[in-house]
Amino acid sequence: MLNIDIEQLEAAFALIIEGIKKQDMSAHLKKRWTRAFDKALRSLIEQPYFAWQPERLLIVSVPKEKTKEMGCRFYEANESACRRMDQSGLCQAFYEGVPCWHRAAYLLLKIYFGAGSGEGSERQSRQIEISPERLLSTKVDTFG
Ligand SMILES: [Zn+2]
Repeated sequence: MLNIDIEQLEAAFALIIEGIKKQDMSAHLKKRWTRAFDKALRSLIEQPYFAWQPERLLIVSVPKEKTKEMGCRFYEANESACRRMDQSGLCQAFYEGVPCWHRAAYLLLKIYFGAGSGEGSERQSRQIEISPERLLSTKVDTFG
């Protein structure tokens, strides 16, 4: 299993939270994205069950103890969409036009891996290149 560098993941998270503040979106949406990223951060640390590719993330959502659901949910997320892999169809939150933590996890890992592949000052410029502002500019409010 992939070992996540928690410190680096948290650095990516901080970068994104800063990026969200600068976004041209409603305070409500900012709050929802912040919450989605918060959950993504915790999930990636506590349950790092995912497969990362630059263009998509496959991630498992482990249900909480009390749900009656059998097994786990599998999601495929990228910048523009999120879908369920264990059922045919979209992620419920994405379908409703709500930021989901799966897409947040994709964006978080994109920053994480993008920032990790450079060295020294190059690393710095890479972080700017993959800006959260650009990633979050994909609007998901068409279902309203
Ligand atoms: Zn989703």
